[in-house]
Amino acid sequence: MTDSPPPSTGASAAGPPVPSAVALSGVTKAFGAVRAVDGIDLEIRAGEFFSMLGPSGSGKTTVLRMIAGFEEPTGGRVLLGGTDVTRLAPFDRDVNTVFQDYALFPHLSVRQNVEYGLKVKRVPRAERTRRAAEALAAVRLEDFAARRPAELSGGQRQRVALARALVNRPSVLLLDEPLGALDLKLRLEMQIELKQIQREAGITFVFVTHDQDEALTMSDRIAVFNAGRIEQVGTPAEVYEHPATEFVAGFVGTSNLLQGDAAAQVFGEPGLYSVRPEKVRITHPDDPAGPDECSAPGTIVEVVYAGALTRFVVDLEAGGRLVALRQNVEESSTDVARHRGSTVLLAWQRRHTVRLSARPGDTTPNDNPQ
Ligand code: ADP
Ligand code: MG
Repeated sequence: MTDSPPPSTGASAAGPPVPSAVALSGVTKAFGAVRAVDGIDLEIRAGEFFSMLGPSGSGKTTVLRMIAGFEEPTGGRVLLGGTDVTRLAPFDRDVNTVFQDYALFPHLSVRQNVEYGLKVKRVPRAERTRRAAEALAAVRLEDFAARRPAELSGGQRQRVALARALVNRPSVLLLDEPLGALDLKLRLEMQIELKQIQREAGITFVFVTHDQDEALTMSDRIAVFNAGRIEQVGTPAEVYEHPATEFVAGFVGTSNLLQGDAAAQVFGEPGLYSVRPEKVRITHPDDPAGPDECSAPGTIVEVVYAGALTRFVVDLEAGGRLVALRQNVEESSTDVARHRGSTVLLAWQRRHTVRLSARPGDTTPNDNPQ
């Protein structure tokens, strides 16, 4: 690569000239003795669907509120589009927030709810009407404009809240667990729909969730939060296939850890290792493993039938325990149950073994900060 100007087809992949949509630099937030956010560096690219994933209390909402301007950092800087906004009020920032509880006005129609913010900003009536119609079309609610929120389903209310934010045409939309109030089926539908809306609108989404499947399904990139820090930033595949730390391996998927003597025996070197359950093949103890495979003999101690898949829990001769997943291509629940107590050999491609560090920073496999 040379440092000639990026091609005119778009600058996103070329890097440096494009300022990040959102950049956090050494951001901390203390509430009294509680360090809710403990030194975060992060760059979110324009047009990205970026998720902040982590357990309850890990600091996700506090980070989002600092980007929005509802909370002032104790230390560090917040930049939007390359401009330092750390001390700016929320209404002076080019962002909008969608909250979990939607906060719709019950006495106003859908259209009036969507227009409300523009009215406050004294946008002329004709433009208001046009932009509200566009926003309602973007969330596919044109036919519901005259209804009150009470006359809508949960998913439709969610989309009104989204339209109310989109109508302001923010360059960044912040969403704090926006699907949390929906039942599972609707959630899965809205995950796909929200992603589609984001792609069509071309707006940067910063999406907070504690649900790993949701983050894996929707995101371009994910930041995994733990106790006020980011343990890893990466694409869904990077975070899932190459977790950087023990925490990430456990929080995103089944961890399947091997350590101590068991690890030394299986891998020839002590350390902390993980292998994803769907990568592990179950074979007969007399079948040799391939030249590029790791293997470990053991006994099936538990068989859990889950419709499409069966989960085999195997205690290894070396000590430790691994879970292997198998698709039920031919087998039924009664077929798989008889495997309990069998002696087997587990085998997996060497490249699917992930070496973990116990804490972030022990190794630097993630791309944060840039
Ligand atoms: P998450 O959104 O990941 O669940 P939060 O950002 O809401 O996490 O909270 C992070 C930590 O900061 C928690 O320990 C929480 O109790 C604490 N916290 C958040 N807001 C406040 C506040 N206004 N006052 C005191 N502590 C707070
Ligand atoms: Mg939260």
